Amino acid sequence: MAKNKVYALIIQGLVQGVGFRPFIYRIAKDLGMKGCVENMNNGVRILVATTPDDRDLLISRIRTEHPRVAYIHRISYTSTEMDEDDFDDFTITPSHSESDEVTQVSPDIDVCADCMRDRTTQPHRIGYPFINCTHCGPRFSIIRDLPYDRSQTTMGGFLMCPDCEKEYTNVIDRRFHAQPVACNHCGPTYYATYNEETYIDYETLLKLTSRLLLGGEVIAAKGIGGYHLICDASNERAVARLREIKQRDTKPFAVMFRDLEHLQVYTATEPMEERCLVSWRRPIVLLRQRSRLASGINPGMHTLGCMLSYMPIHYDWFARTGIPALVMTSGNLSDLPIAITPEDAEAQLAGKVAILLHHNRPIHNRVDDSVLQVCGGQPCLIRRSRGYVPEPFFTDTNVEGIMAFGAEKVNTFALGKGETILQSQYIGDLKNWETFRFYTESMERFRHLFRFNLQRLVCDLHPDYLSSQEAERISKSLSLPLLKVQHHHAHAAACMLEHGLNEPVLAIVMDGTGLGDDGKVWGGEFFFL
Ligand SMILES: [Zn+2]
Ligand SMILES: [Zn+2]
Ligand SMILES: [Zn+2]
Repeated sequence: MAKNKVYALIIQGLVQGVGFRPFIYRIAKDLGMKGCVENMNNGVRILVATTPDDRDLLISRIRTEHPRVAYIHRISYTSTEMDEDDFDDFTITPSHSESDEVTQVSPDIDVCADCMRDRTTQPHRIGYPFINCTHCGPRFSIIRDLPYDRSQTTMGGFLMCPDCEKEYTNVIDRRFHAQPVACNHCGPTYYATYNEETYIDYETLLKLTSRLLLGGEVIAAKGIGGYHLICDASNERAVARLREIKQRDTKPFAVMFRDLEHLQVYTATEPMEERCLVSWRRPIVLLRQRSRLASGINPGMHTLGCMLSYMPIHYDWFARTGIPALVMTSGNLSDLPIAITPEDAEAQLAGKVAILLHHNRPIHNRVDDSVLQVCGGQPCLIRRSRGYVPEPFFTDTNVEGIMAFGAEKVNTFALGKGETILQSQYIGDLKNWETFRFYTESMERFRHLFRFNLQRLVCDLHPDYLSSQEAERISKSLSLPLLKVQHHHAHAAACMLEHGLNEPVLAIVMDGTGLGDDGKVWGGEFFFL
């Protein structure tokens, strides 16, 4: 009898921590294939004994049916010397705990529709506000170390109950290897103190916070990547109070809408904008405003930053209050990084808001809400954070060991790992001491998380930027080479990389003034690159 060949398929992209191996398991079983699937340091590897036709069928099904969060950059395959008889079934090879193999971390994902349904049907998860599965829930915000395993996340302190454990270990369950899996019996909970009474019952807290929101109060609540300040977006007095608390004069606030229908009453949307709004990344999308909510939200502006619910409690607030839109702005005083610990939130906001709603799932990596605007039919990121970070960019060149320190005002940094670039979350203005500390701490965390081996530093040409000074300092102390790049040139090069341009280009960079190569002030350059 003719033997099938064994093929090794390598799938690169965002394929780890998003339910990819169970997905492969299911279609391989469905196609009656034998083999295995495992995480590798460059993606996911499938070994499968099959015919060329079925191999192609498998690839096409992977491309069309993959989990909603997964992103496939490339699928390549080779045939191996293995014998078909090496497999008697299709299996998921467990990750080796101590190795460097897993280098991918998924961004945080909005709660999925299946989980929202499970909240109404599963006895141990009725109304549970921290429900999640293999396809949704927190990821980057809770991860401390790789491989992505519960004990390496801030869920490590929560012992799974037998029900959750059963789901976690069942390969065909929606929660197979869902690291943050939890329920009413074993998972994180909200808590708050109000009028000197401490509450931990979710239903009570939901009722209380809904009442406060309806009463025009400003509340603070811990989310996925940090605290939010929240109030009714139609209530002028509440929004004015929020401005007072934030110590922010005119900078616009973001608004979370109950659903797309309510959002479209107040804004005009195009199909791509709608697609971004409903995507699992749940960014804030800048939209053209049609009619006004409270005027204090975005004084004098025609655009409104809008998003949709992404945590169960958001849905619950809208259902309870009937409010069409809530102002949802970062929980910090002007210029400080967004608060992530109950202590920090209390220190910044106690006495100013009606209630501080905490939860006991620690946030390890701070991530603000991301902001984008659709320009020419394409989403353009203005602030790349929750839902996007740390998804890598792929290059065709080896960028291993390169650390780019970023600019000063709207800082992010990036590091190179093989042929991928990992960009940090939005950091902010480094001139603020707390933000600078967030910067150095995040750099440390990225270096640790991605097992980064620093070999070369890159910074802005501007010697006064705090990021440039930090690069100088580290380069001197480690005796490593430092490359200084003109700011506008860096923008052009980044743009080329993002869009895979390898041919000669004319880059027009309109980024205000900056220090030029010749020591003069530049502003608005044409580069031939
Ligand atoms: Zn889910
Ligand atoms: Zn449980
Ligand atoms: Zn710039």
